[in-house]
Amino acid sequence: MHVTDLVPDPAALERIATGSTWAEGPCWIPATRTLRWSDIPGDRILQWHADTGVVDAYAEHVEFTNGRTLDRDGSVVQCSHGRRRVERDRGGVVEPIVDGWGGGRLNSPNDVVVARDGSVWFTDPAYGITQPREGHPGEREYGDHWVFRCGADGEDLRPVAVDVDEPNGLAFDPDERVLYVASSSSDEPVIRAYDRRGPLLKNGRVFARLERGEGVPDGIRVDVHGNVWSSSHRGVVVFDPTGARVGAIPVPETVANLCFGGDDGTTLFLAAMTSVYRIATTVRDAAAI
Ligand code: MG
Repeated sequence: MHVTDLVPDPAALERIATGSTWAEGPCWIPATRTLRWSDIPGDRILQWHADTGVVDAYAEHVEFTNGRTLDRDGSVVQCSHGRRRVERDRGGVVEPIVDGWGGGRLNSPNDVVVARDGSVWFTDPAYGITQPREGHPGEREYGDHWVFRCGADGEDLRPVAVDVDEPNGLAFDPDERVLYVASSSSDEPVIRAYDRRGPLLKNGRVFARLERGEGVPDGIRVDVHGNVWSSSHRGVVVFDPTGARVGAIPVPETVANLCFGGDDGTTLFLAAMTSVYRIATTVRDAAAI
């Protein structure tokens, strides 16, 4: 397989929005035909309207939201650094899902996915309590930074991976038998894979590694064929289901996160520093099956 099997024309990359401070957490919202993303240091959520190309603020003073995902009921599950929680936005009404574990607050949830059974899986690195522009200063109240899983309403919260150096983006394979977790460690910039057994993860191992000069992986997505699409400092890197490198799509800015969307789900949207880009692909997100 060649990367042009997935992205027929890499040069057709199009910038559709600019003016963010640090764009993250893109999510296609089918009901409104909008792309929604976080401008973390700007403390706002922006949106691009597919009908008009207009960009405006969906919400401001949002307590530093980061990653988000669409739930099956059309609500949006998102991470808030400032509130140190995972929360649900249902038509603009935002309510908490989970904000603490073991008697302490979470650090600053970064990215989140919802499995088909409704369970919520998220990473909890400390950027929102250590980086002044990305939240509020604070302590690691449970003393580490882990990957967690809980039920749809926050019940049965439990750590599921405690061995990721710098947990960040995450995504399931098409069967939800494997969870991939990006580790944004400059010493070891890898994507790890875990076998999912119900609410547990087993058999953690290195799945793929970014090359020198590509920086660290942040957001990741999996397509219907099981290929893993990773953000990098140079753009997007694609790995096949065995972890072999398929190729790269160059982007002029550091890509923080990505998502599939558009009316048929085959447009890849990239949140990249000040801008959001899009490019046509031949695939859809694994979760769209
Ligand atoms: Mg992230």
